[in-house]
Amino acid sequence: MSYLMEVGYLIGSVSFIVGLKMMGQPDSARKGNLVAAFGMAIAVFCALFLNASGFHIIGNIEYIVTAIFLGTVVGTMMAKRVQMTAMPEMVSLFNGMGGLSAALISVIEWRHQMHLLADAAVEGAIDMASSQMPVGMYLAIIAGLIIGTVSFAGSIIAWGKLNGKLGDFRLPSQQIINAIVLLAIVGLAWMNYNGYITELGEINYTYFFAMIAMAVVYGLIFVFPIGGADMPVVISLLNSFTGVAAATGGFMYHNKIMLMGGVLVGSAGTILTVVMCKAMNRSLTNVLIGMAGANSGGSGSSSAGGSVREVQATDVAIMMKYASKVIIVPGYGLAVAQAQHVCHELENLLVEEGVDVKYAIHPVAGRMPGHMNVLLAESNVEYDKLIEMEHINPEFATTDVVLVVGANDVVNPAAKTDPQSPIYGMPILEVDQAKQIVVLKRSMKAGYAGVDNDLFYDPKCGMLFGDAKASLQKLVNEVKSL
Ligand code: NDP
Repeated sequence: MSYLMEVGYLIGSVSFIVGLKMMGQPDSARKGNLVAAFGMAIAVFCALFLNASGFHIIGNIEYIVTAIFLGTVVGTMMAKRVQMTAMPEMVSLFNGMGGLSAALISVIEWRHQMHLLADAAVEGAIDMASSQMPVGMYLAIIAGLIIGTVSFAGSIIAWGKLNGKLGDFRLPSQQIINAIVLLAIVGLAWMNYNGYITELGEINYTYFFAMIAMAVVYGLIFVFPIGGADMPVVISLLNSFTGVAAATGGFMYHNKIMLMGGVLVGSAGTILTVVMCKAMNRSLTNVLIGMAGANSGGSGSSSAGGSVREVQATDVAIMMKYASKVIIVPGYGLAVAQAQHVCHELENLLVEEGVDVKYAIHPVAGRMPGHMNVLLAESNVEYDKLIEMEHINPEFATTDVVLVVGANDVVNPAAKTDPQSPIYGMPILEVDQAKQIVVLKRSMKAGYAGVDNDLFYDPKCGMLFGDAKASLQKLVNEVKSL
């Protein structure tokens, strides 16, 4: 019986790892999510109903179960109602809640440790005025508090920015201010360690609360100036912060599965941050010191010029039906238009005509990592048709028609050719190598990074204006009628 909890935690940990691994592939991602959720259910059960000596119901169980029930209802409703286009902001919000939880755990544990000291002093076991908390415990509490609070404040700003409620805001000498606030947090943590008991032997919360306030300020000023194409980096970075903050809870409570879960989220978030940095051409150091966004969300300047060529659905349908190879490039507009199902219908029709059809997936197409994979999986596109950027790029030169559906920044050649462009250096899908390009969008408006796109002025490129879903439906009808 005494091993039951350990075995439960082991099963939970293995489920997390297996689930995470399965999430790496689109065809197993859904099951991976369920496996990880199963692991979490076991972990929660063990934490609430088992301890080292066997069955034991944890204190305050009625509050805990009520909170879990309410959280489950609210979370399920939000997840069911959320539009695909609003997924990134929901991820941000949930991540913020994780950070807040980790910070609250630290606050509670801090209070608990303070009361232990006070009780020991009352019993005469220690001299309160000269007592010190073990350094390891102090560091775990403070790290969880600061990182969790920064993650919470930053995620809420990211949520507001992604849903358009908040704009970019940049202080003068932003980097210096960021560094000062960080130093202030470290200084307050040091002062708190040496001064949480007053000379009169009373608990002193001043530095503790000042530290929380500064961590909130850091979270705000860290994320506020970040805009444009750098947002995914900051979201995955905040995600890794939340993981690390949760892992500190594992140290505090000697809870292995909490530690393991936190470390997995922290490292997965860090890996994703590095991958995102590469995909967005941002250096991690720049992001960490608050430089991200300094040159993004551009002014819309472009070297583009000339005229655009408008095309009609009939011509595009003929081009595609008689092509031997077509690559579809999905972007944010596909999600806005909810055009994934009709897109798949068009793909099926072309395949029936003997056309080789693939999808080119850019790592930051859409508004969150994996956005296009999720969207296309929803419409049952075969996973092996979704080809990552580095594998599809060499194929464009041998492609008859590239159909760009609501993508813009991720196919902008200025990223390769214009050093003045805010997105210069960002790896792109090299669609300009194809024989013919057709772009489905509603207007000549810029994409997320706010820059004009030279591709649209390429003589090989035709613009099919309109809502992506309506345009794709027209293409389906035309291909059927040919
Ligand atoms: P973009 O935002 O560059 O472009 C999307 C295009 O879709 C717009 O130009 C818009 O043009 C068009 N569009 C919008 N609605 C519709 C519609 N209903 N029908 C047809 N077209 C439509 O998207 P990309 O996917 O190319 O690039 C993603 C951008 O988002 C990158 O800059 C990336 O850095 C950034 N980003 C990515 C995140 C991620 O994790 N993936 C997170 C946050 C930002 P029009 O208005 O004329 O129709």
